[in-house]
Amino acid sequence: MTYIGRFAPSPTGLLHFGSLLAALAGYLDARAHQGQWLLRIEDLDPPREFPGARIQIPQTLEAFGLHWDGDILFQSNRLSHYQAALHQLHQQQQAYRCDCSRKQIQQRTGTTCYDGHCRQQSPAATAASAWRACTNQISTQFEDAIQGPQQCQLGDGGDFVIKRKDGLFAYQLAVVVDDACQQISHIVRGCDLLEETHRQLHLQQLLGFSRPHYSHIPVASNAAGQKLSKQNLAQPLDNSRPVPQLIEALRFLGQQPPTTLCDASLDELLSWATTHWQPSQIASQHAITWEP
Ligand code: GLU
Ligand code: ZN
Repeated sequence: MTYIGRFAPSPTGLLHFGSLLAALAGYLDARAHQGQWLLRIEDLDPPREFPGARIQIPQTLEAFGLHWDGDILFQSNRLSHYQAALHQLHQQQQAYRCDCSRKQIQQRTGTTCYDGHCRQQSPAATAASAWRACTNQISTQFEDAIQGPQQCQLGDGGDFVIKRKDGLFAYQLAVVVDDACQQISHIVRGCDLLEETHRQLHLQQLLGFSRPHYSHIPVASNAAGQKLSKQNLAQPLDNSRPVPQLIEALRFLGQQPPTTLCDASLDELLSWATTHWQPSQIASQHAITWEP
């Protein structure tokens, strides 16, 4: 089996402990399988970009010894590929224009779920409009290596946006196109994306892409149950002392680094972690409370 994994951060902030968990788990899983581990910067949304993050994210990964293979892929260079996928879905009558506002959807349905209104009467091509993918009444399922069997009635959430009204491509479309193009075989990431996976499976199927293996690791949350994130002002990682933060991340992931490794070098620690990597020890929970 050829193993190709990836880490795909959005440059909307600096890496924090939550990002380290996804990066480390992905890195170790790839290395333990003698696989490749790629880095993709998901810079689809320039207004939300944190200044300097596209430079500092790779620097932090280097400082933590998490070396990736090949060149960094920037999504901002790949818009024509996303446009081609959108075109294909449109040709297959699986995508359509929609100019409904959030407010209109709310008024019609009483929820935020889209009711398929523009499927029948798509707005004129001249108007600024979003694009939605058709979900139909299909059910999707997959086996997550950590969280077990997953199932979803995709239609219940409504047809979802793949290109926004402001012209930006949505994460869902870009991630599927790039995972296929980079021939990603294994995706390791946080449980915050577990539900999104179903939409991605649906797009993969429509576009004729093969399906990667998925492992969704628990996210770290604070005592109030909020996910550790840039929005909650999670502390950025400290590049000057990677070893203790890596040990903490290993413990979070259910690995049991011996205390003697606290004085180890970065290389020694990562090589121990790769040889002793046991994904079966990761808790099959969506979130774990973690306090620094
Ligand atoms: N760019 C996404 C994020 O930072 C992750 C994408 C993925 O791993 O599929 O949340
Ligand atoms: Zn609409």
